[in-house]
Amino acid sequence: MRYVGTRGGGSAGFRAVVTGGLAPGGGLWMPEVWPHFSHHELSAMARLDYAETAARVLARFIGDDIDDATLLGLCRDAYAGFDDAAVTPLRRLDDGLSLLELFHGPTLSFKDIALQLLGAMLGHFGARTTIIGATSGDTGSAAIHAVAGKKGVRIVMLYPEGRISDVQRRQMTSVAAGNVDVVAIDGSFDDCQRIVKALLGDAALVAKHRLSAVNSINWLRIAAQSVYYFTAALRLGAPDSAVGFAVPTGNLGDAFAGHAARRMGLPIARIIVATNANDIVARALADGVYRPGAVRATDAPAMDIQVASNFERLLWDAAGGDGAVVARQMAALAGEGEIVLTDAQRAALAHMTGVAIDAAAMDAAMRWADERGTTIDPHTAIALAAAQSVGGDDPIAVVATAHPAKFPDAVRRATGRDPTVPARLADALTGAERVVRLPADVAAVTAYVAARG
Ligand SMILES: *Cc1c(COP(=O)(O)O)cnc(C)c1O
Repeated sequence: MRYVGTRGGGSAGFRAVVTGGLAPGGGLWMPEVWPHFSHHELSAMARLDYAETAARVLARFIGDDIDDATLLGLCRDAYAGFDDAAVTPLRRLDDGLSLLELFHGPTLSFKDIALQLLGAMLGHFGARTTIIGATSGDTGSAAIHAVAGKKGVRIVMLYPEGRISDVQRRQMTSVAAGNVDVVAIDGSFDDCQRIVKALLGDAALVAKHRLSAVNSINWLRIAAQSVYYFTAALRLGAPDSAVGFAVPTGNLGDAFAGHAARRMGLPIARIIVATNANDIVARALADGVYRPGAVRATDAPAMDIQVASNFERLLWDAAGGDGAVVARQMAALAGEGEIVLTDAQRAALAHMTGVAIDAAAMDAAMRWADERGTTIDPHTAIALAAAQSVGGDDPIAVVATAHPAKFPDAVRRATGRDPTVPARLADALTGAERVVRLPADVAAVTAYVAARG
């Protein structure tokens, strides 16, 4: 499989795309053609377990870079530590409504599904690398747990001091492995991201320390996340009947993975893109104009962003893979501050419905689920409320992106009840913390990275 850039140009294989950075001109990598699974191939997939399904889907994206037996082994390794044999189990909520639980990995958010596999693959490729990242919550701990103790890989994770939850901080700082550095920055998340971008833009530093990134621009994250759309849809009646998904959306990595599964032949009739007050993607799908505003802080912090990086992939695919169109649109975003979708792009995205859910509806959804014996987290509640507001005839799977124990304050406030804390989180909450404090200063972080590696 060859990959091309969303802003035109570029040609790279799977390994280069997964271990490298951006495509030419600041674009993102996309497969040159979508793999396609026939009705017969999809039916046969229903008999496979999760790791086998992952290997079968991912093989099409990888081509010759990893042989089939090795790939299956990597998938088995990645998902062996999940606490449910189904890896991403489906739980019935109501008639036609189920919960797709993506929080059974080591750090209890859906980020584990792609990052556990990315960790296994970096190990396989023997990539000597220093991963540098900035986190506002769940990505940091998932990335750290994916590479802790791995030979040849070091990880430096920046977070804004005092601006992530205690649970999220402890999930990072309680990891004792020597190849993990957690850095509290005296500043905001935007400061952290600015510093990471500056380091990754420093060619000499990147070459010397083999710096790489783990944010949601990495194609493997999309490919790995498309797998649970297959396992869930097959259990809900595909390929013989159509299904829908409701997805709590921030950077659009998760919802775009659903779009990818649809492009590969899965009969997904509808993808409900659920947002909170930060509704840029919902607005763009509804009125065809993508215009970032100011970020509003909510109880679903993983969705509190204004620029959804994977929207560029959606634009590219909806433009029939025309990089010139996307390059113009991204230039318009930088220049005029907005993108106007073409009629063709809007038509190609008709299966995606954007819905914005306010705080009261989010709390009501947490209570609705609680009354039926299921505790859900605030992000999942937004997707549930969106699914209930859209309705429809096809069965809908609400994508549950985090375990409720990660957001105890919001759950308690909405339901009056504390979520039960799984054992693997309880350990993190009591372990010793290890953290370095640095100013929000590129030179200080550069010196730290250079001195440590
Ligand atoms: C990251 C995250 C999201 C948003 O996912 P995207 O792929 O960025 O759209 C939603 N919920 C939780 C709990 C998350 O950690």
